[in-house]
Amino acid sequence: MVLKNIKYALNNIRKPPVTRLFPEVESQLSDRFRGLQILDKSRCIGCGICANTCPNNTIRIVKAPIAPGSSKERWFPEIDIGHCLFCGLCIDQCPKEALSSGKEYAKGVVKWKHKDLLMTPAKLAREVNLDEGDER
Ligand code: SF4
Ligand code: SF4
Repeated sequence: MVLKNIKYALNNIRKPPVTRLFPEVESQLSDRFRGLQILDKSRCIGCGICANTCPNNTIRIVKAPIAPGSSKERWFPEIDIGHCLFCGLCIDQCPKEALSSGKEYAKGVVKWKHKDLLMTPAKLAREVNLDEGDER
């Protein structure tokens, strides 16, 4: 056993390390990776199917401006990412393909406080910085 381990170590001594220097070096994600949802407000009709589909009851339909600075409001989903299991059902069930999967797995998702994990329609639409309004 000892000899086997020494042989293994000698065989690998010149190979590069397999550890990743996260967060300095970003991980490579597969095409099917399901990260923070992206909302296309122009497609969303506020039907609430995503909210009714969510197995964790994570989505609320709220009124929000249709665009940054606009006084006109419509109904859009708001997601509490702290309870989201990233199953993707909300994306699959949306009749208008208004939701899609983003690639964020750290920014916007890793927070100090649960309340900062509330993704407003503006955050889901990436109209504002995902870390905007966070408390430390
Ligand atoms: S994101 Fe899709 S399912 Fe959800 S309210 Fe908008 S249109 Fe309906
Ligand atoms: S990915 Fe799944 S758990 Fe997360 S909001 Fe969508 S339906 Fe709910």
